[in-house]
Amino acid sequence: MKIFKEIEEVEGTLIEWRRDLHSHPELAFEEHHTAKFVAKKLREFNIDVEENIAGTGVVGTLRKGSGNLAVGLRADLDALPIHEGNNFSHKSKNPGKMHACGHDGHTTMLLGAAQYLSNHGKFSGTIHFIFQPAEENEGGGKAMIEDGLFKRFPVDSIFGMHNIPGIPVGCFAIKPGPMMAAFDVFELTVHGKGGHAAMPHLATDPIQIGTKIVEAFQNIVAKEINPQEPAVLSVTKFQAGDTFNVIPSNAKIGGSARCFSEKIQLQLERRMGDLSKEIAKAFEARCDFHYERRYPPTINNEKESLQARKAAVDLVGEENLISDHRPSMGSEDFAFMLKERPGAYIWIGNGDGEGSCMIHNPLYDFNDKILTLGASWWVRVAEQYLNPAQTY
Ligand SMILES: [Zn+2]
Ligand SMILES: [Zn+2]
Repeated sequence: MKIFKEIEEVEGTLIEWRRDLHSHPELAFEEHHTAKFVAKKLREFNIDVEENIAGTGVVGTLRKGSGNLAVGLRADLDALPIHEGNNFSHKSKNPGKMHACGHDGHTTMLLGAAQYLSNHGKFSGTIHFIFQPAEENEGGGKAMIEDGLFKRFPVDSIFGMHNIPGIPVGCFAIKPGPMMAAFDVFELTVHGKGGHAAMPHLATDPIQIGTKIVEAFQNIVAKEINPQEPAVLSVTKFQAGDTFNVIPSNAKIGGSARCFSEKIQLQLERRMGDLSKEIAKAFEARCDFHYERRYPPTINNEKESLQARKAAVDLVGEENLISDHRPSMGSEDFAFMLKERPGAYIWIGNGDGEGSCMIHNPLYDFNDKILTLGASWWVRVAEQYLNPAQTY
């Protein structure tokens, strides 16, 4: 495994930064401490800094030479509303909040690369280091675009990286095309008629009707969507009633749907809406149905995927580059940036032994052993993009 010497030399510092960020997790759009930390470091590296983009977003800009190309490198700042189950010394100091997705590591790796590129980088052109808020659920990437991200910091291509437990340390995974699914949410309310549990004939039971809707939804992926097209429809909440002897008036049902194409999104939305309304009507109730598209699918462009792949192969060799993996049914708001600019998103292995606890688990921790590798990958991607003649 090849790591830049100057990055290897600061490994202890990178671990310190990562653990500091880990112990101070902040939720979507509240990343004030984290954003200040990032801005301070970038200034220490003599990089121009713009803060408060979409609230807590930060962009650092580094220019060298007269090259016209500009590249965007993106990391995420936010943590999750999870109570940390770990007991090590750098565990979360903010109860109910935790860096359970490794964004502490992502931020640190990009800062490590920024420091190297400012001091030693061999390139001619512009690098924008993009630190986005609110990757989890709230679409901070989209908010930054709406706040003029690519107008204020124009880039020709954009790259993103996420750690992935279960893939060994020293491995990367990437391929062109779909990497992660679209993320949509739905919510419906069955409006029945409340009454006494002993006299159901005088009520219209929204629980009974709701269960038929949930059951009918299972037919959509199993029997209506082309089995060659990946799709997930998960009902994750069903809320109704407060006590033993009352049939409630309403039942609320919600969940999420995932797929890779606009066509399937439309099919899911239309069929869920039709089934919930028609089933409610058949049982003399009424139903409101709302379907909301949160994140588009994360689709890698061919050219940038090859560039990202080459940077990884230079570091870890062809044998440690995975490109036959299936896309994840999880999602990523980097997808919004990929809709605006060509680019690619790569996974870096967080470990298959230590480091294999899945993200979003209260026992997860970003693996410090990959900090220098991730920072080196960022450097290679940027230098190769802005200095194609560069060999290593
Ligand atoms: Zn996450
Ligand atoms: Zn994440």
